Amino acid sequence: MIQVQELSHSFKIGKKGKERQVPVLKGLSFSIQEGEIVSIVGRSGSGKSTLLHILAGFLKPDTGIIEIDNVRTSVFNETESAKYRLAHFGFIFQNFQLMPGLTVFENIELPLKLSGVMEKERRQKVQELLQLVGLTEVQDHYPNELSGGQQQRVSIARALITDPPIIFADEPTGSLDSETEQDILLLIQSLNRSRGITFVIITHDDTVAETAHRIYRMHDGELIEGGASHAI
Ligand code: ADP
Ligand code: MG
Repeated sequence: MIQVQELSHSFKIGKKGKERQVPVLKGLSFSIQEGEIVSIVGRSGSGKSTLLHILAGFLKPDTGIIEIDNVRTSVFNETESAKYRLAHFGFIFQNFQLMPGLTVFENIELPLKLSGVMEKERRQKVQELLQLVGLTEVQDHYPNELSGGQQQRVSIARALITDPPIIFADEPTGSLDSETEQDILLLIQSLNRSRGITFVIITHDDTVAETAHRIYRMHDGELIEGGASHAI
């Protein structure tokens, strides 16, 4: 589903006049199959979020080819990337990134509202997802009235609302205690099974990584496949 060839990226850092180019991704080649949960694990600063930003089209790589469903997304301009992203990707972040002024219901509904879906259809989809992630009772609450685990469920429901085939999760359990972390990882696994969604999970944590079908390890700008996991 996702094919990456010889992907490289570097950042220019340092004071003006004394900048230097620091390579972060050094010729990565890898692929992700449809319906897989793949984790990309590595230490902080190893380039995981940069890789995710590039895969999702937020950032243009210096060199390399990305193909998603046989579409070469790495040649897209900004408008094409944004359009593709809206139709194909969902996102889950460590800090949830919910809108504080909107209720649970309204947060989940927002992507559909922005895509111009009619109210009746929106309400039906939101209700279905509220049930799926177990948040029906708190649908009228605001994010700051929820626990971390509940907030992450809201953001998962929001990621699902447009039926994306791929969900990118950047440290999805990074702000949660270990018990809540397990709940969220189980929810991801069940969504993968029931809906066939492909998940790319970025993490610095080996126990999180091991809940994936396959693990890639990011080290020194390179990606090494870490073998199959038996945790599932
Ligand atoms: P990770 O997500 O694995 O912690 P990142 O992809 O965020 O790592 O960062 C990888 C490296 O690239 C780090 O050294 C970071 O400081 C650097 N970096 C990330 N984004 C930028 C940027 N916009 N400008 C300059 N350097 C950056
Ligand atoms: Mg990161």
